[in-house]
Amino acid sequence: MNAPPKEELRRGWCPSTLRPMETGDGWLVRLHPPGARLTPAQLRRIAALATEHGNGLVEISARANLQIRGVTAESHPKLVERLLAERLVDEPDGDGPQRLTLVSPLAGRDPTSLLDAAALAAEIELRARTLSGLPAKLCVVIDDGGAQALDGFASDIRLLCIGAGRLALRIGESPWLGPVAQAEAVTVMEAILRGFARLRSAAPDHIRRMRDLSPVALAGLTGLPETTAPAARPKPRRVGLFAAALDRFAALIGLPFGRCPAATLERLVAGLETDAAEIRLSPWRGLAFRGFDRARAEAFLMLAGDLGLITRDDDPRLSVQACAGSPACSRAEASTMADAAVLAEATAGLLAGGVTLHVSGCVKACAHPAAADLTLVGREGRYDVVPGGTTRDKPVATLDLSALLTRLQPGEDIHARLKAVRSTGSQG
Ligand code: SF4
Repeated sequence: MNAPPKEELRRGWCPSTLRPMETGDGWLVRLHPPGARLTPAQLRRIAALATEHGNGLVEISARANLQIRGVTAESHPKLVERLLAERLVDEPDGDGPQRLTLVSPLAGRDPTSLLDAAALAAEIELRARTLSGLPAKLCVVIDDGGAQALDGFASDIRLLCIGAGRLALRIGESPWLGPVAQAEAVTVMEAILRGFARLRSAAPDHIRRMRDLSPVALAGLTGLPETTAPAARPKPRRVGLFAAALDRFAALIGLPFGRCPAATLERLVAGLETDAAEIRLSPWRGLAFRGFDRARAEAFLMLAGDLGLITRDDDPRLSVQACAGSPACSRAEASTMADAAVLAEATAGLLAGGVTLHVSGCVKACAHPAAADLTLVGREGRYDVVPGGTTRDKPVATLDLSALLTRLQPGEDIHARLKAVRSTGSQG
């Protein structure tokens, strides 16, 4: 296995295992395990490989992808060799998506669901692999209509189960379409994807994602009538104990800021006596361990909490994005992960109210390229403070952590500004 050619390492590349992406802290290797599931033994091996060939951190993205960072040109071939040997690589050829579907981490086991979204996702993935010309970042959210609502995740196409055997479909932000019979859903999806790939091939400079299609082109893709928009659903619990099918339980765990030391995962999984538990990746940047009895699930969550992982849905860390920072990243100008933990605690009330916080070690914004209500950018051990912007926007101040914590207190200016966001949704 040789290192990939330089042109395949450019920033913005949708990375995979065989074709990593160059980032500020080395190469980012994204894993797509077969069937999007792992055994505890596989997770343990991945954690060991992240220590051996990466920077010792394991990350889970908001698309529920497992990532190893800090890989180098020298370590990548060895890492790939080991992952191939462990049958942990499942990548189609070509420039299309490695995994286009996003489902609940409880999919197929959730007693509140109206559909086995995992099974539907597997069929759609299989059909999509026969098509060329789809964009690598294409995302199809398949929402089973249960308690794990996926409304918070952006998508190119959204399928939502609205009743037994019936789905509604939405492309981008266009009106809802349907209903689609469950038995027809794979065929309908294949036709949409095939039609989109054809339109894209005909105008590659103008049509990159589905959002680039005109309303007429969109309508032509499906032939489905408009339908009533489904009612808004309550926000889902993202972590904790969940009842699953067949009297089993699942433990959903969040990784602080979407990442944790590989050694922590090894210790967590060592707490599983057998390989009976099945692991799914969660788009809430965590892991779902499924197949426990209640007592074991509760004990497992307690262990996870003791290891510093997130097990409570009101944990403010669930609302914070932070990059690896120093010492993991050589470009970092601040200890982002440690500081993010302190900041999350200090701003818990604001975060619980919906304020978003991004703590970046430098302007590269590896963790969150988009705007946040409060973006902090490392600068020689202090932070540039950017309200309502990205790491590249003009800061209003440069503060050390202590001064920042003071100005985030009630009655201080930055707190007041964020509180206004919470109540009005605007930075004013
Ligand atoms: S400091 Fe953070 S944002 Fe900058 S390159 Fe490193 S990981 Fe990326």
